[in-house]
Amino acid sequence: MKVINLNGIGMTSLRTRERLVQRLREEGVSDEIVLNVIRTTPRHIFVDEALSHRAYEDTALPIGFNQTLSQPYTVARMTELLLQNGAPKKVLEVGSGSGYQTAVLAQLVPSVFTVERIGPLQEKAKSRMKLLGLDNVKFLHTDGGMGWPEKGPFDAIMVTAAPEHIPEALIDQLTIGGRMVIPVGADKQYLTIVDRTSAGVEIERVEPARFVPLLAGIR
Ligand code: SAH
Repeated sequence: MKVINLNGIGMTSLRTRERLVQRLREEGVSDEIVLNVIRTTPRHIFVDEALSHRAYEDTALPIGFNQTLSQPYTVARMTELLLQNGAPKKVLEVGSGSGYQTAVLAQLVPSVFTVERIGPLQEKAKSRMKLLGLDNVKFLHTDGGMGWPEKGPFDAIMVTAAPEHIPEALIDQLTIGGRMVIPVGADKQYLTIVDRTSAGVEIERVEPARFVPLLAGIR
């Protein structure tokens, strides 16, 4: 049996993680509750073993199928923006990928629904949730541009791949008062906040971003 060390040693130790958290603070992440979850979540189990020594660098890492695990700054920043709007109970994540962002969310909100279009990535993400004992996550293999209408509406939606335009279907699945954090754009992307109000939506561009594209269909 393969033994996985959740606490980490050397380059994956708590000390290394503390340095990462300090760097995120310097880059402007200020929500200490989010930072604490970043500190305690073993990012090294979300990448191939050959890359685990780089897991606590503030850098995006490949996870196969031309996809990447977002850089810790991005995960922390998006999470802090998502939670800034209150305490969402039910959250949809579009683009489970490695499951790292999913695991971070699952420690901060009661219930996470996550969708992914690439089956094998989702299977790995699932087993990592199990390993961490996070049992408040539901997975679906689907084209997430459509969201997960059967389970909606959601208090918050986090999208981790970039569409050219904000998908209407996702706005429809937000509760009134709900917030979506989503990278938007083709060549030039912006991390964008979409707040649903009783009058419609309020959209705010936050900062430039670089994400893999939101693609249609499943594989
Ligand atoms: N949150 C992930 C980031 C993965 S990268 C992590 O922490 O690892 C973005 C992910 O979005 C990829 O896994 C990609 O397959 C997925 N994706 C892209 N378009 C999608 C779509 N239409 N529906 C669902 N997932 C999609």
